Amino acid sequence: MHTVRVTLIDVPTERRSTGGGASTRTVFRTCPLCEAGCGLELTVTDDGVTRIRGDRNDVFSRGYICPKGSTLRQLHDDPDRLRAPLVRRGGRHVEVTWAEAFEEADRVLSGAIERHGRGAMGVYVGNPNAHNLAGLLYLRPLLKSLGTRNVFTASTVDQRPKELSSAWMFGGGLTIPVPDIDRTHMLVMLGANPYESNGSLATAPDWPGRIEAMQARGGRLVVVDPRRTRTADQADQHLAIRPGTDALLLAAVVTCLARDGRIAPGDAGRYVAGLDEVVRALAGFTPESVSAAVGIDARDIERLAHEIADAPSAAVYGRIGTTTAEFGTLASWLVDVVNLVTGNLDRPGGAMFAKAAAGAANTRGRERYGRGFNVGRHRSRVRGLAGSMGELPVACMAEEIDTPGEGQLRAMVTVAGNPVLSTPNSDRLDAAMAGLDGYVAVDIYLNETTRHADVILPPPSALQRGHYDLALLQLALHNVANYSPPVLPLDDGQPDEWAILARLALIAQGMGPDADVEVVDDLVVGALVDAAVGDEHGPVAGRDRAEILEALAPRTGPERLLDLMLRTGPYGDGFGARAGQVVPGVAPLTLDVLLENPHGVDLGPLEPRLPEVLRTESGMVEVAAEPLMADLARLEAVLDRPVPQAVLVGRRDLRSNNSWMHNVNVLVKGRPRCTLHVHPDDASRWELVDGGSARVASRVGAVEVPVEVTDAVRPGVVSLPHGWGHDLDGIRLEVARAHAGTNSNVLTDDQVVDDLSGNAVLNGIPVEVGPVASTA
Ligand code: SF4
Repeated sequence: MHTVRVTLIDVPTERRSTGGGASTRTVFRTCPLCEAGCGLELTVTDDGVTRIRGDRNDVFSRGYICPKGSTLRQLHDDPDRLRAPLVRRGGRHVEVTWAEAFEEADRVLSGAIERHGRGAMGVYVGNPNAHNLAGLLYLRPLLKSLGTRNVFTASTVDQRPKELSSAWMFGGGLTIPVPDIDRTHMLVMLGANPYESNGSLATAPDWPGRIEAMQARGGRLVVVDPRRTRTADQADQHLAIRPGTDALLLAAVVTCLARDGRIAPGDAGRYVAGLDEVVRALAGFTPESVSAAVGIDARDIERLAHEIADAPSAAVYGRIGTTTAEFGTLASWLVDVVNLVTGNLDRPGGAMFAKAAAGAANTRGRERYGRGFNVGRHRSRVRGLAGSMGELPVACMAEEIDTPGEGQLRAMVTVAGNPVLSTPNSDRLDAAMAGLDGYVAVDIYLNETTRHADVILPPPSALQRGHYDLALLQLALHNVANYSPPVLPLDDGQPDEWAILARLALIAQGMGPDADVEVVDDLVVGALVDAAVGDEHGPVAGRDRAEILEALAPRTGPERLLDLMLRTGPYGDGFGARAGQVVPGVAPLTLDVLLENPHGVDLGPLEPRLPEVLRTESGMVEVAAEPLMADLARLEAVLDRPVPQAVLVGRRDLRSNNSWMHNVNVLVKGRPRCTLHVHPDDASRWELVDGGSARVASRVGAVEVPVEVTDAVRPGVVSLPHGWGHDLDGIRLEVARAHAGTNSNVLTDDQVVDDLSGNAVLNGIPVEVGPVASTA
């Protein structure tokens, strides 16, 4: 393998100095830890990274950084981060050489395929892959080589509903309108807490700064959330909705506006099909009829509807609380319906579409042309849950492993995932993983899931790999592009992440552990070049593939693919076809141009993209897609449903990042964060005291957890953060173990999903709560 690394020496703006014999350099890179994509400034000496702070010149983040961003050094230096592969021998994980590890991976995977067939293979892909160029580009060859349809990802933990509603409405799962916060007059957020999460499915650094700037110019923030979150504290109005009822609230907002004759889609209306049908179908959801179910006074719902309609511009945005719920897809759809009927879809200050520099399906091919979108072409074996976007819902992964019969999953590959902590009914999945016949993990930690693996192959740390947010920049609130080369070199003998995935792909094809990974790399780039020259609407239509490949040389690996995507993207140089500037003042994009601009390239504010962004079959915004309309009957049925004694919701914390950053001491020290929030009225009813313990039980499990009494949750709602529970045997996470916390997914129910998407329901879980002594 001789990957051509784009080294820091090529970056002209890098500053180097020598003093006292030690060399010091300053480098810039995008933080890969969350969706915000902040620019970082790193000081690097011979001893490694010595300081990290926000890059004040970054075109998007302007110096913003959160407490997690500065811990890239601690993550790299973490003694528990795996530097060498592990294999299980005699019930223990022991370090081996890379050659031995791949031989063992070959024995495990090839053996399992031989014994059980490819239909018995499963894959789980975790959330960090969304931030990882190699993960996004080289997983596909691995999945194809495994030849299985049993693919599960973190998308069906928390975002598939938004992907589906967007695919039906606009023709693409990542054609998701994002709130134009920097220009809006009113922001309505449902189930979102960016003061803690830094935003999601809407990429922007410094949500707090952007929101406060909006308020400073007279804008208004309304937060709809069962909890008075830090974001709700900042709001001009907080509506404490009952968990899981956002779809009812949004439907009533539409009906309220329809009753008042205020359906006004504006310019976007010219490209919409089926809006009258939607308005008619929602007519039964009035502010009065949903008020009791949502727990909000009908007059407040009317007021909300009128304020959105009256605002010069407004953006409605829904996130985790709306998507990890029983009606996640309907709620996701209705967010965009409200934006549409108030004239805010695709206008400045409303909900708009990014135009990404690379990788976006909505900038390729013929405009307003698509092949339609379906779910359920493939169904899960045991429960018959509908698959979508090439995946099955993660909520059925455990039963696919532990239910005997033809097609039972007998071997797994996981890539940067910890589903034992992050997916529903954890105890069942934990037991199921323990019973696998073979398991290969690609992961930097021996964690609660990978402790079951036969082989663990650790990729390089985030500082040792290049970074470009291929997926997340498709959801940016401002069009930007930035590439970061690796900050630190690979360890001796350490394969790059793409090479690990490529080698596993070759093993899965039966080519053994020693085949040449460059074959896979060449196949991947060849397929992308073929697609580019075959796109009659693209900038290199009809060109010679050899000429394009030669222009990309001598790069290999993810950087070669990225260069190709940038150059054939909407701002690219088209390999010479676009000589002029697409954006004034910005050279046509190539990877070299990004390398010359380590603070990123500003491609301008979002601009209206209807109708060219559409890839639906009709070329219109399909607002009345049949599956969505059909699901309204299910929504109507909940209006009369009794309210459980208590329901569980999740909680975000600025210092926590799902399950995998709890081994960083600076992020977990201080007061315990994994506590159960209980309203004072409930605490007295259930005989709980602040600082005491509660037993929480659901249909599938029970936990004991420290109690924090607070009026930040509405009565009848308890809240527990996710990603904790680091007290299982066999993990190698010493800091996390000392701050173990409680796994909230012991309580979430794998049998309850959003019917349309199969997405896990992690919010609104019925639970019984009581003091430990009386209920244990
Ligand atoms: S907000 Fe996200 S991207 Fe920005 S520094 Fe924090 S973790 Fe990194």
